[in-house]
Amino acid sequence: MLLRLKKGLPPLQLDAVLTEARGLGYDHRFLDEGRTLLELSGAEGRPEHRSRFEDLVGVAAVLDAGDARERHERAPGAPERAVRAGDAVFGAGAASLVAGPCAVEDADRVIDIARRVRAQGATLLRGGAYKPRTSPYSFQGLGREGLEILARVRAEVGIGVVTEVMDPREVEAVAEVADMLQIGARSMASSPLLLEVGKAGKPVLLKRGFGATVREFLLAAEYLLSTGNEDVVLCERGVRGFDTGVTRNLLDVGAVAHLKRATHLPVVVDPSHAAGRADLVRPLARAGVTAGADGLIVEVHPRPAEAHSDGAQAISVDELALVASDMRALLELEDRAFVTPGLERASA
Ligand code: PEP
Ligand code: MN
Repeated sequence: MLLRLKKGLPPLQLDAVLTEARGLGYDHRFLDEGRTLLELSGAEGRPEHRSRFEDLVGVAAVLDAGDARERHERAPGAPERAVRAGDAVFGAGAASLVAGPCAVEDADRVIDIARRVRAQGATLLRGGAYKPRTSPYSFQGLGREGLEILARVRAEVGIGVVTEVMDPREVEAVAEVADMLQIGARSMASSPLLLEVGKAGKPVLLKRGFGATVREFLLAAEYLLSTGNEDVVLCERGVRGFDTGVTRNLLDVGAVAHLKRATHLPVVVDPSHAAGRADLVRPLARAGVTAGADGLIVEVHPRPAEAHSDGAQAISVDELALVASDMRALLELEDRAFVTPGLERASA
């Protein structure tokens, strides 16, 4: 393990680092004259050790965790993980399109949207029965009734469903209908929820909190992985920028490119919540795929003016067709596969 210590460390703080290292069974040696680079060896590293050092005031950074690799970290030479949910495959050279309304509002409408997005190549339907709204006075979703609608859509249209779960007590009920469980940006750091969702035995779509660093995002994924669930897909949906007059959030394409190197987990991009505007969804979707995303999750609504939430960013099915063809073309350039709905379900 390699630590970077703060410069000019007071003896007490340096002592605390060395005592911790000895206590965990490590030998140490300084690699530079300024005594800021500290190499630890001789003990089997563990992820808990990394956190113990990160928590010490004298440690500026853990530069190399060595054997103490966290579960999300990509081991040298290790392949990417392909996560499957319904007909969708994310990662290891495959990319999938997820589309649907922000919220489940009405059974006939969701069924209609599901059929149409599937016809454009979407392998999963998105749609929230539970909506995490900033205001308690905004539409909160249909709850259990919404789940029943999703179960019906799934059966009638033959498309898998990804839907959000906000409350650990609802995980079982949501997991009964969902092919993939979504953890929303507002819940990303809720460790009890992460642990409960991880244990549900379903693939998970983890959205990045709008104020979360990439490290915090990955540690949220680590909670999921710590339950033994390896089917975790990371979703970049934009972080809070300073100029909300133009876009709702700032799509962090740098984070997408970084994550593709730092972890074996698949990464998808949500251009809808990043843009907050229907007219910017298509270019941001292209940016996401170009940065390396293994999929897109897009909000679609035939009558955005009637949507109870996020109408301004909903694109039409015709526009989704353009997003899908861009996606296919960009993936082809890199010999990556655009995964389409399974043939066995095509008659549904
Ligand atoms: C959503 O997907 O509709 C949603 C609420 O997204 P986020 O959690 O990213 O805001
Ligand atoms: Mn939404």
